[in-house]
Amino acid sequence: MTLAAVSLADNRGRFDVERARADFPILKQRINGRPLVYLDNAASAQKPTLVLDAMRDVYETTYANVHRGVHTLSQRATVVFEAAREKVARFLNAGSADEIVFVRGATEAINLVAGSLGRRYLAAGDEVVISEMEHHANIVPWQLLREEKGIILRVVPIDDDGVLKLDAYRALLGPRTRLVSIAHVSNALGTVNPVAEIVREAHRAGAFVLIDGCQAVPHYPVDVRELGADFYALSSHKLYGPTSVGVLWGRGEVLAEMPPYQGGGEMIASVSFDKTTFKKPPHRFEAGTPAIAEAVGLGAAVDYLTGLGLAAVHAHEDALLAYATRRLGEVPGLRIIGTAPEKAAIVSFVMDGVHPHDIGTIVDQYGVAIRAGHHCAQPVMDRFGVAATARASFALYNTMAEVDALTEALAAVRELFPA
Ligand code: PMP
Repeated sequence: MTLAAVSLADNRGRFDVERARADFPILKQRINGRPLVYLDNAASAQKPTLVLDAMRDVYETTYANVHRGVHTLSQRATVVFEAAREKVARFLNAGSADEIVFVRGATEAINLVAGSLGRRYLAAGDEVVISEMEHHANIVPWQLLREEKGIILRVVPIDDDGVLKLDAYRALLGPRTRLVSIAHVSNALGTVNPVAEIVREAHRAGAFVLIDGCQAVPHYPVDVRELGADFYALSSHKLYGPTSVGVLWGRGEVLAEMPPYQGGGEMIASVSFDKTTFKKPPHRFEAGTPAIAEAVGLGAAVDYLTGLGLAAVHAHEDALLAYATRRLGEVPGLRIIGTAPEKAAIVSFVMDGVHPHDIGTIVDQYGVAIRAGHHCAQPVMDRFGVAATARASFALYNTMAEVDALTEALAAVRELFPA
């Protein structure tokens, strides 16, 4: 069953986008004299009032350092911080809150797995499988491990639509495969990967699986237990929460066997100069003072999304994707990069004779915020023979009228740079 199928199957509610927009104060502003059209959500999403209020409330009423205080405020701060962990666990349907490790973001989550599991259990000649569509955050940590340990990195190719070649994936799996680390949704192409199948095949080969869910969780309900992977990584800031916090979900029995990733306060059971013992997960992996108000903000963000219903959000974004794909197709000389049948609401494109940075700069004059560049996925750009793309990425608060605004701004680009 694909995740898209799961989300559509239980989509009962209708989604009121205007009401949702009212929850995001930043959207009310004008940019360059036009209403802001924010289409850079895959880079970072905007924050609803609920999240802003939750963080402000922590600082105004509850803030102190967590876990180590005997005083009332510290205890209160610990309660709200750990409550956020519980919320995230429910959001992902984790087996327990102890499987939720708070990290700085998806980047740190992946580095944690490479630095802990990778360093301890991978040896020269062991293989890690990634794909051609990975974000640099899911490439570079494995290259660093390759330098350190002599592991071998195998890369699953993608086809001209940006679809993972599953046959090639199966062929890459072998007795030395120790870990498969693949994006759930590509940030550069929008491709939704068949992660359940990827996990099944990897486990059959006896490998661990890490899913980089950064671009999936804002769009699809994710059930980590149903998915069956060993790790799932996400960043709060793409999920309508604050920056500087993210999550590594890890299966309890796997986390329990992993050594610390960083050393410091909070992660120890006892310290002496001769011997230090460590706490159980998740605290073993959370050295130092965590992002306290940010974790609470992330908890509020998942409350917000749960309240709206991710299935309804997904249906809305799917309609936006279909409409944007059709409207952008009307712009002469525009080519969409990433045309997989299963896509999240991300549209990467190039235009004949115009550099993506010029596209981004010109549409900004019309109040439209899109991203231009390699999207931290240079191998994807190489695969499609481009240096960069322009990318419109949609969120729950975007509207069909905003797709029209983007199309009109692109028509203006075309007038300046005739095809
Ligand atoms: N993986 C993917 C697929 C991403 O899109 C991103 C962010 N663009 C990351 C990982 C890294 O996330 P962060 O910068 O929040 O750590």
